Amino acid sequence: MSRFFLRTWQERHSGFLFLTDRDGRVLKAAPLKSRQSWTPSLPPIAVGVNLAEGGDTAVAQAIRSKQVAVKAADSNLYWGVVPLLGDDGSVCATIGMVVPPGGNQFDIAGCLLGVESLLSLGYEAYLDQAAAEIVMYASQCDRERDMVKYVIEHVQEKIGKGYCSAAKLDENGYVMPGELVCTDQRAHDLLSEYLFQNSIKCTEQVNEKNGHLVLIPVFCEDKPLYAFFLHESSEQWFSGFDEQDAAFLANVGEKLKNVLLRAVTTGDILKKAQKKDMLYSLTRKMLASIDVNDVLTEIMESVGQLYPGFELDIYLTVDTNTTLPVKQLSFQDEACDFSSKAYMQGSLIVGSKHISGRQVTIVAAPLMGKQGIYGVLQLTSGKLVEIDDNGMEQIGILAETAGTAFENAQLYQQSRNLIRELRLINEMAKQLNRSLDVQEILRFVTSLMLDNFAAEYCAILEKSDDCFTVLSSSLPEQIGRTISVEESLLSEIVRDKEPIILASPRPESGEFSLMPYASLMAVPLLHEAEVVGLLLVLDSRRNFFGFDDFKLLQIFGQHTSLAMTNALLHSEVERMAITDNLTGLFVRRYLDEQIAASLEQDSFGSLILVDIDLFKEVNDTYGHQMGDEVLVQVAGLIKQNIREGDIAARWGGEEMAIYLPNVDLLTALNIANRIRSRVETETKPQVTISSGVVQWDRTVQKEMTVSRLFHLADLALYEAKNKGRNQICLA
Ligand code: GH3
Ligand code: MG
Ligand code: MG
Repeated sequence: MSRFFLRTWQERHSGFLFLTDRDGRVLKAAPLKSRQSWTPSLPPIAVGVNLAEGGDTAVAQAIRSKQVAVKAADSNLYWGVVPLLGDDGSVCATIGMVVPPGGNQFDIAGCLLGVESLLSLGYEAYLDQAAAEIVMYASQCDRERDMVKYVIEHVQEKIGKGYCSAAKLDENGYVMPGELVCTDQRAHDLLSEYLFQNSIKCTEQVNEKNGHLVLIPVFCEDKPLYAFFLHESSEQWFSGFDEQDAAFLANVGEKLKNVLLRAVTTGDILKKAQKKDMLYSLTRKMLASIDVNDVLTEIMESVGQLYPGFELDIYLTVDTNTTLPVKQLSFQDEACDFSSKAYMQGSLIVGSKHISGRQVTIVAAPLMGKQGIYGVLQLTSGKLVEIDDNGMEQIGILAETAGTAFENAQLYQQSRNLIRELRLINEMAKQLNRSLDVQEILRFVTSLMLDNFAAEYCAILEKSDDCFTVLSSSLPEQIGRTISVEESLLSEIVRDKEPIILASPRPESGEFSLMPYASLMAVPLLHEAEVVGLLLVLDSRRNFFGFDDFKLLQIFGQHTSLAMTNALLHSEVERMAITDNLTGLFVRRYLDEQIAASLEQDSFGSLILVDIDLFKEVNDTYGHQMGDEVLVQVAGLIKQNIREGDIAARWGGEEMAIYLPNVDLLTALNIANRIRSRVETETKPQVTISSGVVQWDRTVQKEMTVSRLFHLADLALYEAKNKGRNQICLA
């Protein structure tokens, strides 16, 4: 008021203006500005001084009479005071002035008499001007949001209590999601809470909650633009907004509407252009991407920007290794009903349905490539909304681009996987073919499994009649452990001879005794259509293995089976090459090699040469076949009487030789005698043997050779024969 009064006062008069409370105590005092300078000698008109004191002052008079009081005081100062009456008729304040005497005389009473009506008129004018000023400055903002922000900040400042906020409206007059403009976060929280609880149509002015909430909608040419709110902080003590506050905001709104329409229209055009730009750059980025994860990330990020207020779900029908929150399209799941339909029809679908008490709009667009549909992009709004043709077309384009990009990325990934797989198989085949050592093969395959599946555990198991034995494992302490074939998973594999992949533990299978797991892959190793072993890969995380992993392990399985069979066959051939068919003793060549090696590395050793006595007669009497059998019997007795590390070989027809590394002559003699005596008693038809025994010792004979050793043994044998057979001679 005092501000207004200063403005309405004629400029040429200097003086002081003051405002008092109902008791005459000064609340505010200000000089009236004038070109003439005047330094009055005044009673102190300072805040707190009571100008009604004494009862004889103009202020006291005005309070008493409730009428304008004008008085010339002792010092010839003119006092004029007008009481301000409240609704109940009592004085609630006074406004007064004091001017100097002489010079510019004027009718102070006349001026003050009109002041009351002027006051109210002036206040409105003042507000009107304030509103005009706000709108004028606001209209200089380029962007719609800046404009609205400027308005709410200045309205809030002018009103001086509570918050002023704004919300953008859609064409039906509902607040658009994510389109609140507030002066601070607290105001934003309060208003969104209110708007969330009351889904109101903002087409009418509202004065709610005892003046604690005012809503002024701003329309232009029937187009809803913004709703402006006056609302208070619920924490503060607050008496509410009065009609003048609402009128002020309405005034601002009225003045603002044309400017705002222009800004909104420009903003909309700009936004559309931006959306197109974004869509264009998104399309380019997606099509350039060869990584499924990148494509999905791109879709998620840009849909969030392009369609704020919508929730995005991506449903896929193909297996990807993505870590992003995509879901598998399920035709049974009710949350997917629109998406399932869009997938089946291969076209975009819009509809509405009830979700947790709200009617929402759902758009489902298939991710369509050239070779198929890979999933569905589903947008769900927080409430019922209309999507125009333009929007629909955009979503369609987006989904289609995403589908193509997804297809490209997937094909690329697939071909890369294929190449990787082929390289791996090639490398593996080479490695496995190179090695005929079973242990080496096991080590190689184990490391291959560890490298390729990044799983926590892998093992190779070998099956015997009733159990599986761990041959190789990522946990070395498990090597040698056995598990019963009866265990559910294993028995299934033995029965079906088929590989198994599990994405979660099977409760009906019970515990797997080797290792707890959540994901499992098991591939049987087959030999002549029988399960002879198992490749096993486990991990404690669910859904850990993909289908590609499973395929790869099966390939590992085939190659491992083949390599192990090869290695086993090879060692069998090797064994056969050094074994005499008839007797099962080593062949002479092998014995020669072993003796040569012993002569190199040992300090001493003994050789026993054995010849069956009068064997010709056995043949002649019982036939060659029986002769052969006798040979086998003698060989068997020899084997029974020597230790591991000793080498017994068939030397020639019915002659055998036993080399005993690191065995001295006396011991060799004992062994030869034991064999001789058992042959004599245990063969059937009975035969006897003669033996020559020889020892070599590095300290005695520096230059011993294999043939020399045999020659010496042969001489001893000859001696035994000469002495009457069935006896042993030493060289
Ligand atoms: P001795 O050694 O005591 O002087 O008499 P011998 O009858 O054993 O004499 P000799 O060494 O001349 O004969 C060995 C015979 O053993 C000749 C051969 O027919 C027979 N013989 C050699 N190899 C085999 C064989 O693999 N199977 C059978 N049944 N007989 C064999
Ligand atoms: Mg002989
Ligand atoms: Mg003989």
